[in-house]
Amino acid sequence: MHRLHGRWRGTCSEGPSILSVAEPGPECGAGGSGSSGSGSNQVTGDSALHAAVDTGISNAKSKLSNQQCANLLSSLTTTSPQAGGTSLQSIMNQRGWTNPSTYLSSGIGFYTGQTHTDSSGTAPCSYGSRYAWTQPSFPQVWICDKFKELTGTPGWAGVYTIHELLHTLGLPEGGQGQYTHQQITDLVNNACGH
Ligand SMILES: [Zn+2]
Repeated sequence: MHRLHGRWRGTCSEGPSILSVAEPGPECGAGGSGSSGSGSNQVTGDSALHAAVDTGISNAKSKLSNQQCANLLSSLTTTSPQAGGTSLQSIMNQRGWTNPSTYLSSGIGFYTGQTHTDSSGTAPCSYGSRYAWTQPSFPQVWICDKFKELTGTPGWAGVYTIHELLHTLGLPEGGQGQYTHQQITDLVNNACGH
């Protein structure tokens, strides 16, 4: 996919090297920078979508209370499946959280994302195939309207919520030598169930 220059609309992205930076900038919300009100479900304007996100968060927290599921954070790294990265657990710890469920409810913000553009200036939700998306290593999850389809399958809402949680801690996707979107979903489903 081509990339336009500097079109990330937040002020968080400084390029690939940001993957090694644990602390987000002030506009990135939660993460120990002293900001408040940026954690958890910030989806507005669509009560059904907001409710679907609540369902996903709630289910994911239940899954993460299972050690086999929580262990995903120690087994996956910022370069998985390639060697040399930092474990997602370490990244989470650096941001000030030790418990994945607490991180999920306090360290990540979930936002209305249908028209939000990524660093290439396109809106990933507009392709219609994604439930949500993230810019790896940043604590925002952008929720697509399609996420509402998961309302009737809370277990899958939880799987996709954990999938995005892993990205917020730096798990990459889709590049050469990286996991695909489906592979990450499979990893979560295998460890956490649905
Ligand atoms: Zn993904």
